[in-house]
Amino acid sequence: MSDFDAVLFDLDGTLCRRTQDTGAMYAAVFERVGEEPFGAPAELWAALDGPPDHDDWIGYLGAGFARLAARHGRTDVDPLELAEALTTVSDETAVGLLPGAREAIDSAIENGPVGVVTNGPHRRQQPKLDTLELTHLFDVIVYGADRGRQKPHTDAFDHALAELGLPADRVLYVGNSLEYDVAGAHNAGLPVAWLRDPDEEPGAYSPEYVIESLAELSGILGDE
Ligand SMILES: [Mg+2]
Repeated sequence: MSDFDAVLFDLDGTLCRRTQDTGAMYAAVFERVGEEPFGAPAELWAALDGPPDHDDWIGYLGAGFARLAARHGRTDVDPLELAEALTTVSDETAVGLLPGAREAIDSAIENGPVGVVTNGPHRRQQPKLDTLELTHLFDVIVYGADRGRQKPHTDAFDHALAELGLPADRVLYVGNSLEYDVAGAHNAGLPVAWLRDPDEEPGAYSPEYVIESLAELSGILGDE
């Protein structure tokens, strides 16, 4: 018998990852706005400030481009224009399932209702789920950005629990981020299976389960 009546998953970095060639995408941004390229994708990601702000996605990316532009002495460019171009050339359908994801979803379905609690907005996340042909498998999908509050806030979890009609302690959350997934689920009272990056340590966080692969989920659900 499983200790859980339902399983909720994070999406990005848990069930799927991006497969778009980031170098080509970055070059396409500058081509689109007719500017000489500067920087590199990794430099831009590092220049982004904190967690994604899905309420102001362009502003969030634009601030990153502005920092990069200053660093490269290119304050002549419009960072918001670059940010808009990035969202245009970014292909949300360029995604792939992470190893063990489909198995994990299947064992969760055998266990009971299954859902997704993601911070991204519907317009960016739904194409991923559709491309991966996962949408129909979920009983509930909650997009934090569209609700105005995001993980680690409890709102998205509370909404999913209400949809499922289940108490928090009977629902397992599976996610790859300590700051958003483990902290968020714990804030809302859900036990968590943390999908750990090999280099990462839990530090002050205390996930109930630590897994290296989604294939381990069936063991937690007692479906050997
Ligand atoms: Mg994630």
